Amino acid sequence: MNEQPRREEIAAGLRTVRDRIAAAAQRVGRHPRDVTLVVVTKTFPASDIRLLAGLGVRDVGENRHPEAGEKAAALGDLDLCWHFVGHVQSNKAAKVASYADVVHSVDSVRLAHRLGAGAEATGRVVTCLVQVSLDPPSTGKGRGGAARGAAQDVAAAVAATRGLQLGGVMGIAPQGEPPTGAFARLAEIAAQIRGLHPSATMVSAGMSGDLAQAVGAGATHVRVGSAVLGPRPPLR
Ligand SMILES: *Cc1c(COP(=O)(O)O)cnc(C)c1O
Repeated sequence: MNEQPRREEIAAGLRTVRDRIAAAAQRVGRHPRDVTLVVVTKTFPASDIRLLAGLGVRDVGENRHPEAGEKAAALGDLDLCWHFVGHVQSNKAAKVASYADVVHSVDSVRLAHRLGAGAEATGRVVTCLVQVSLDPPSTGKGRGGAARGAAQDVAAAVAATRGLQLGGVMGIAPQGEPPTGAFARLAEIAAQIRGLHPSATMVSAGMSGDLAQAVGAGATHVRVGSAVLGPRPPLR
């Protein structure tokens, strides 16, 4: 297969997204360099990740085990930073900790302990972000994350667990309302956690549709899939 057209498609997507990040950063007096683009490659083939690496992308995100681990193994020759952005099932936590460099979705003390055990078993240190629920309190499951009041406890557990390093927080804006309020709440929680853990400076927020608002609210990491890679192929 000729990969040139796909390479150009991805390069164009990357340019557009990098421009959007730069514009959003400049609007609030931030330097675009202070925002890391994590390209979410879930359901896209490993060949796309190889093209991304050739275009200068170092941070890639996946949301499911074992797909994530298979790609990390297949692309071990590239110097990539693997971000796990999806919900981690307890029974898969140790496996995820054996290849993920950053886990964005740590939402319980129990999960922190399982990830720590896996990281230690493989002699790794995994950076963990506390996923904070930004859903209105009354909604059921929503988009996941620790309840606001539990975020500090999860952060403390990560900080105290060998094999883990507390990186900061992550949030997903609820659907059906402007994301600005949700990202402001996340920024507030991020500041509280940073007050107790000064090195926990990462704020992972913003996807294809709302990355500008997230950057405006202080996101240090945006997780962008379709705006770079195009419509996602269906789940396997
Ligand atoms: C898929 C996914 C993204 C990227 O979504 P796009 O809308 O394609 O940019 C970001 N964060 C998480 C947690 C995801 O699962």
